Amino acid sequence: MSETSYKDKSFRPIVGIDLGTTNSAAAYIFKQKPKMITLEYDHNTIPSVVLIDPKGHIVVGEEARNALVAMPDRTKAAVKRSMGEDVSFPLGDQSYTPEELSAFILKEIKESVDEVLGEGEKEAVITVPAYFTNTQRQATKKAGELAGFVVERIINEPTAAALAYGLQNLHDDGHILVYDLGGGTFDVSVVEMMGGILEVKASAGNNQLGGEDFDWLLVDWLAEKVQSEHGVDPRQDVRGKARLKEEAEKVKKELSFADSVDVAIPVITVKNNVPVGLDVTITREEFISLIKPLLQETEEKLRQVLEDANLQPNEIDEVLLVGGSTRIPQVHKLVHQFFQKEPRSDINPDEVVAQGAAVQAGIKSGALSKKGIIVTDVAPFSMGIAVLSANLMGRMGKPGAFHAIIPRNTTIPVTRTEQFSTTFDGQTEVKIEIFQGENDWVKNNYFLNEFILEGLAPRPAGEEGVEVTFRYNLNGILEVKAKSVSTGVEMKITVEDALDRSSETAFYDSLAKIESAYQLEDEADATESEWTLLDELEDGDNIEGEDETLQELTEEAHDWLTRFTKELDNREGKSKQQLLNAMSQLKEALDGKNTTQLHEAIEYSVDLAIDLEL
Ligand code: ADP
Ligand code: MG
Repeated sequence: MSETSYKDKSFRPIVGIDLGTTNSAAAYIFKQKPKMITLEYDHNTIPSVVLIDPKGHIVVGEEARNALVAMPDRTKAAVKRSMGEDVSFPLGDQSYTPEELSAFILKEIKESVDEVLGEGEKEAVITVPAYFTNTQRQATKKAGELAGFVVERIINEPTAAALAYGLQNLHDDGHILVYDLGGGTFDVSVVEMMGGILEVKASAGNNQLGGEDFDWLLVDWLAEKVQSEHGVDPRQDVRGKARLKEEAEKVKKELSFADSVDVAIPVITVKNNVPVGLDVTITREEFISLIKPLLQETEEKLRQVLEDANLQPNEIDEVLLVGGSTRIPQVHKLVHQFFQKEPRSDINPDEVVAQGAAVQAGIKSGALSKKGIIVTDVAPFSMGIAVLSANLMGRMGKPGAFHAIIPRNTTIPVTRTEQFSTTFDGQTEVKIEIFQGENDWVKNNYFLNEFILEGLAPRPAGEEGVEVTFRYNLNGILEVKAKSVSTGVEMKITVEDALDRSSETAFYDSLAKIESAYQLEDEADATESEWTLLDELEDGDNIEGEDETLQELTEEAHDWLTRFTKELDNREGKSKQQLLNAMSQLKEALDGKNTTQLHEAIEYSVDLAIDLEL
């Protein structure tokens, strides 16, 4: 395949999107390499947080995240944890489903994508955790469509990560383990590379385990300090709780560099109208002991995935660290000790999934020559049908047993056919009930769909055969076909279609709702003056909040300046220049007293500190 350039008119770039629980990112292929799309504030990722402000503006990203404290009932974070669930979240005057809220995030990303790649129809590859159910995958696809993307493919996050690295390591054969610890999910997968073919052998994980949980453990620790000192629980106060959460995440991140952190919050809550604050020091050791049980759980999942892949730790050639929480030194240590090998984190752990999605997109669009990469994946769950349990000592089996046709971790795409027979004499129809899950009984598994195959030849029980075919593709879409062996009549359903058909009206309702939300936004802009009262209330809140942030950011920037100044003597060449650059950026931001600028300078400092292993 020849190289495709942007001058080629027939070429349509497809974007790769990491729709994360905590942060989202997007990338595309440029000059045969993944390139991140710049999102707000020149960052490559944005917080997956949505705010509907009192004026009806839909705000996504950093600003929405900052509003979590001031406007908890207008903001929603970590909506991915509810993806595919039949729930809705009230935000201001409206309620939104997880798909709709995710669509707001994706729409925000699409605006930046359009700025880089031009307006017009955009195809996208969106990633999901490996163990997302079919319903969760469909919901993700729907969110992409609501945002105006043509969703080309849904791929697993660890697959994407392996792809991002795979691109550079095509000549290496072996097993890669992807350890992805993000903000809301933990995902571990074994990927096999053989002669340029990339295949995911096994996946395990927990979609309720991530950096957010570490934050909450720290919140509890901090709250208990306040309680024992002042006899008041700041978690009882919505703002106190949110403030502690924000502080906890900051402290956690600092503990990735520092051995101990002083936490000083002048006001967290009030008791008998008297402000209550917190002044305490936490060490890295203390933090580690808080999160240890959760880290141990990730270790158990490591064992499970190796068992599923039938491999020993020493048979893993490369270990990849993915997700922001892998910056915690203890995580690095755990993985290092487990495998007796240095894990790799040379691609930014926040960007690697989006980059891998872009690689997949690039293969599809032709922007990337294939170079022999063929991606396969594994079925995250067993899928099968309800049958009678096996006959026991001559007695007829019980109905409702689960028979897996595609067992968990089967390499996909896959097509499997099995033959079944009738249970009763003269039976002319059979009900095919489709489930996913790992239990021996269907009632404990997840019901996907059902249909009835009619037109069987009436024959004695057990003599009429029915062939059942399951076809599962890389998009996580299941097609089931049943066929009578004697008469040849057959019936087929696609699980996605079945779900979509019943929810088609819901899709258009959501679309209309989202469009009207943006319309309301425009109207709000046109009638700005009507909102004076709210403006005043809002501004009151902001002044306090902004002063505090400015002060905090100023302190933080000074800390970085001190740290970099000390480090300057130990460095030379490029890293010295980088330190000097960061310092002048910090100084400029401090002079300008500008929160956005300070924020950027600090983020840059954090990144640099990571790069330079300060
Ligand atoms: P997700 O995939 O869930 O969207 P990310 O991979 O973006 O998440 O990781 C976000 C998480 O990483 C957050 O919980 C954040 O606090 C955490 N994180 C980011 N940087 C650091 C750091 N330096 N030390 C510890 N945790 C960090
Ligand atoms: Mg992630």
